[in-house]
Amino acid sequence: ERQALGRLRRLPAKLSSGEKLQLQANLELPAELPLIAQSGASGIGLLRTEFLFINAETMPDEDGQEAVYAEVIAAMAGDTTTIRVVDWGGEKQSEALTRAGLSDMGDNLNPALGVRGLRLLLRHPAILETQFAAILKASVAGPVRVMLPMVTSVHEIREAREIYHRVARRLRRRGVKLGDTLPPLGIMAETPAAAIMGDSLAQEAEFLAIGTNDLTMYTLAADRASAEVASLYHPLHPAVLRLIQTVTEAALRQYRPISVCGEIAGDPRVVPLLVGLGLRSFSMTASAVPRVKRVVRALSFEDCRRLAHCVMQVSGVEEVTALIDAFAAGV
Ligand code: PEP
Ligand code: MG
Repeated sequence: ERQALGRLRRLPAKLSSGEKLQLQANLELPAELPLIAQSGASGIGLLRTEFLFINAETMPDEDGQEAVYAEVIAAMAGDTTTIRVVDWGGEKQSEALTRAGLSDMGDNLNPALGVRGLRLLLRHPAILETQFAAILKASVAGPVRVMLPMVTSVHEIREAREIYHRVARRLRRRGVKLGDTLPPLGIMAETPAAAIMGDSLAQEAEFLAIGTNDLTMYTLAADRASAEVASLYHPLHPAVLRLIQTVTEAALRQYRPISVCGEIAGDPRVVPLLVGLGLRSFSMTASAVPRVKRVVRALSFEDCRRLAHCVMQVSGVEEVTALIDAFAAGV
């Protein structure tokens, strides 16, 4: 079985009906780089940069960050690396940010609903400026995309883009050579607001990545880190699926690339449904890539579309799960 999965590495990720898919890897620590190379992933769909902050006692500086990003980008050997600026807050805690007095946790009893992700960065633009500068400088090493976490409004994207362009102008004045067009600036679609407003957001964002981990939490009002409500936290809840469908269709209408990078993107049982909803790009734990590839190579788009059509008509998680399992048993 291991050998068979190994051989899959060189085979294309396409459906039996011919449509090409993109299977990429999520990266949480640079130590995972060799695994990504072995997995057959075509690039990194989500580079979580929290590791730079979480174990650090001081804020990582521009040069230090640039070196890390450049190493990852070079290792991807021409495949795209999607770097997400730091998503701190909620269940993600950071020593360096707290020590720097940037925690902003204040009186917040619900950190996931507080100053998290892009909200924190817009309140403390210095962190964002340093990170943008490091990414832009590293981007000479290969293709890069830059991604914003926890977006709820169009104006947040505009504000971040202004900072992005300002940082690029400053670097050019310093004599740093950047390409004529900057790396695309896109967003995580991981709040219900972002999914519902997909059309507007897709006009401001150059690409979208659906973060089903948080989208599930915020849609179902069930903390992703709480054992108490674990049984209520279900990414296949029809409410979550409708938001995935809404934002996917919005992105496709605006001709914006859209992908899924939450945990379900690496679940071979769920991917056929996502394909049926129109998604073609998935980013997952490196170890999941071969299994997902094996499954998608046996799928026809028409079958996936029919599955999605059935799933979108039922109103309970149990029914969704039953349909998906029955489909998987037939593949
Ligand atoms: C998500 O929310 O689905 C996601 C991919 O981001 P993270 O798990 O890092 O919050
Ligand atoms: Mg998230």
